[in-house]
Amino acid sequence: MKDTEKTLICPACGKEMKKVWFEEKGFFADICTDGCGGVWLDNRELDKIDESDENADVILDALNEKTFEPVDKTKERICPVCGAKMVKNKYTDDVVPVEIDACYSCGGKFLDNDELALIRKQYEEEQDLVDDALKVRKYKPKGHTGIVRLFQAMSNKALMHTEYDE
Ligand SMILES: [Zn+2]
Ligand SMILES: [Zn+2]
Repeated sequence: MKDTEKTLICPACGKEMKKVWFEEKGFFADICTDGCGGVWLDNRELDKIDESDENADVILDALNEKTFEPVDKTKERICPVCGAKMVKNKYTDDVVPVEIDACYSCGGKFLDNDELALIRKQYEEEQDLVDDALKVRKYKPKGHTGIVRLFQAMSNKALMHTEYDE
């Protein structure tokens, strides 16, 4: 996927976004450093940094401990690359899902300044959940019930508060 070369105008606040080179991943992220702190990622770039064990330092450092202009997250946004209307998209299935703006035309995605960290945090929590579920199965094999509980736990975080038999 070719990176966007032009300077992008932030779809949330209208400021010029800054290109930040992400050496390890080999792409530019466009970050609204002078405005709302939003992050533009071209098609498939988010996939490379959405899991908490993937390096996203370049972007997180650019946002860390800074205050940004508040924006209306519910407002419709227009893709800064191709001009198409962007669509609000639930990126995670968590209790409080992270909703990002996606362009179905070029595949670009726009994240408000806290959303990348939230997506990564939810991924980490899901991994912990899977790890815990696997431990339950490993140390307390209880036939059918154990397996059912494993899948319940994997599909519903709330069930992690269920007490497992010792
Ligand atoms: Zn902005
Ligand atoms: Zn687009």
